[in-house]
Amino acid sequence: MKQTMLSWGLKTDVGRVRKANQDAVSADGSIFVVADGMGGHQGGEEASAIAVGSILNSGPVETVEELADAVSKANELIRAKGAVVPELGGMGTTVVAMCVLPAESTGGALHLGAVNVGDSRLYRYENEQLEQVSLDHSLVGELERAGQITADEAARHPQRNVVTRALGADDDVEIDTWEIPARVGQRYLLCSDGLVNEVADEQIRSELAEMNAPDKSASNLVQAAISAGGRDNITVLILDVLENT
Ligand code: MN
Repeated sequence: MKQTMLSWGLKTDVGRVRKANQDAVSADGSIFVVADGMGGHQGGEEASAIAVGSILNSGPVETVEELADAVSKANELIRAKGAVVPELGGMGTTVVAMCVLPAESTGGALHLGAVNVGDSRLYRYENEQLEQVSLDHSLVGELERAGQITADEAARHPQRNVVTRALGADDDVEIDTWEIPARVGQRYLLCSDGLVNEVADEQIRSELAEMNAPDKSASNLVQAAISAGGRDNITVLILDVLENT
């Protein structure tokens, strides 16, 4: 079995149109989080910052269930703050996160845990193929999965920003989870919709295929979204699985 190590890089940008960046991103080598906040009066920035901060500071995460528990806790914190600060009422955020699972809990090989709520995405790039791992919890995502609209129609739909799940929306939050075997050569991409609404999957794939260092790949993808219009905040986090030599 090859020994593996992780390398990561991240970039966020306000884009060309929005006045504030309501996205948040952070990583500490064992937890990786992207969040896309929504809500006026700084609510969006507040919600995404609470999500990223509380998930990263949730203590050691050893299973994907514990990562999901950290997301539930973030939901509680966002709702509690929204309840006591009236102008933040109704704030919310998406979240997509990954964590490194300790070898003891997964039979020896490196595994990654992943969770998502909302329409921020997780992709895996492997063997020159790009695959979306997460499902979008969005109006257009649900219509597309029900076969009522095509992927093209979803990409151009006027209501494509409507999410059907978010932290802050309700006392209970439904969280999708994955436990993924990590293999040398994989690249994981966590991103907000400001990337995928501006940059087609094929262009994302070809940028990842360049195999630049993750911080460079993240910067290039953000720049591509800005060049394409930058109509939303853009956040990219790339996590590479490398051979430990
Ligand atoms: Mn967004």
